[in-house]
Amino acid sequence: MHIIDRIDLRRSWTGEEVFVLDQVRRLIRETIAPAARETDLSGRFPWANVEAINALGLNGIYIPETYGGAPMSYRVYLAVVKLIASACASTGIIYATNFHATGPIVDFATEEQKARFLPRIATGGLAALAITESEAGSDATGMRTIFRPQGDTIVVSGSKAFITSGDVADIILVFGKWAETENPRAAISALVLEKGTEGFEIAHIEDKMGHRGSTTAAMTFNDCRVPRDNLIGAPGDGLAILLASLNRSRPSIAAHALGIARAAFDDMVTYMNSRQQSGRRIIDFQGNQFMLADRAADLAMAEVWLDHVAALIDAAERDFGVEASIAKLRASDLAMLMATDAVQMHGGYGYCRDFRVERLMRDAKITQIWEGTNQIQRQLIGRSFAAK
Ligand SMILES: Cc1cc2nc3c(=O)[nH]c(=O)nc-3n(C[C@H](O)[C@H](O)[C@H](O)COP(=O)(O)OP(=O)(O)OC[C@H]3O[C@@H](n4cnc5c(N)ncnc54)[C@H](O)[C@@H]3O)c2cc1C
Repeated sequence: MHIIDRIDLRRSWTGEEVFVLDQVRRLIRETIAPAARETDLSGRFPWANVEAINALGLNGIYIPETYGGAPMSYRVYLAVVKLIASACASTGIIYATNFHATGPIVDFATEEQKARFLPRIATGGLAALAITESEAGSDATGMRTIFRPQGDTIVVSGSKAFITSGDVADIILVFGKWAETENPRAAISALVLEKGTEGFEIAHIEDKMGHRGSTTAAMTFNDCRVPRDNLIGAPGDGLAILLASLNRSRPSIAAHALGIARAAFDDMVTYMNSRQQSGRRIIDFQGNQFMLADRAADLAMAEVWLDHVAALIDAAERDFGVEASIAKLRASDLAMLMATDAVQMHGGYGYCRDFRVERLMRDAKITQIWEGTNQIQRQLIGRSFAAK
């Protein structure tokens, strides 16, 4: 047994957690992993995987019992994301996006709103989180989508770009600016837009390098009339909701990236042990061992740091934004590095689709970009040390 397996083995779980994680491993073995290659090649949305995830009730992990969930720790949620992403990054991000969009409803919505929206997700619905716009990416405060209050409705106009599951989601948590507030940061607000709302249109679906089974939609809101009851919090609460939700979605993205990194590591080690050149296994060349040592050490550190962040969140710590950024930064840089090294160790075969590492390298790249690019993460981390 190698060091990374030992990290997995030494984590302590309750009996119920072991049961859930074993079920996820079976789901991966029987359903998700066998379909991953075809999902990537066809670019088809993996509905069968989503149904299988729902059959296990995995959305329930992050939804309170009152609304149909069966809540477990954040640490368990991260373990599930990591396992699914290691088998199929597309399915991993569809599952994680559901949490990213639903978490703010759990944390900030009224009881009445929770009773309307959460059971739909607990029973298998899909959710999307719509922040980014074509002219507002890293600086989300530059968003131009407008929320105009009109009696008991809010008229939503504008557009969003790059929205994961945007075309298939039953509910979309949309961020926009309250028309009556001048200060652009204080104007940011959040509401739930439901599937089928008149004036809501998918402009196009991106044709991407990786994560080809997950859809990424550009959308327009042509004066969509949304009930005022769908506003989360008060007008102007959006920025606080946004920042709080990013703090929880960044470790989730880190878990997803670590799933990719782990898959690349496993494939690389297996191949290095079997491929022979000059009469020796390629793992027996010292230069390759040095590389492998660095990647194993990186992976071990990233795993343990993510455990640390999960423990902070499960302990209801409130100030963990920098820790979350470090997890996202290191895990995603590692996913890209590991996948690149795994391709390199496969030689020419690594560049061909017959080997999984080719897909892992394409899937890894976006982890350095989404949920705040790694340049932005470095800024957030570095800035935290500047004396006030
Ligand atoms: C597949 C995919 C799925 C996505 N899913 C979602 C989703 O579900 N919901 C959602 O809201 N968004 C989503 N996004 C959007 C994603 O979060 C943004 O692409 C990301 O935040 C970067 O924004 P941008 O693409 O506009 O790049 P830009 O902000 O234009 O950045 C371009 C480059 O400039 C750098 N840069 C920008 N500002 C600074 C700065 N201040 N200092 C240093 N460098 C800087 C960036 O790091 C980057 O390298 C998704 C994107 C993709 C590709």
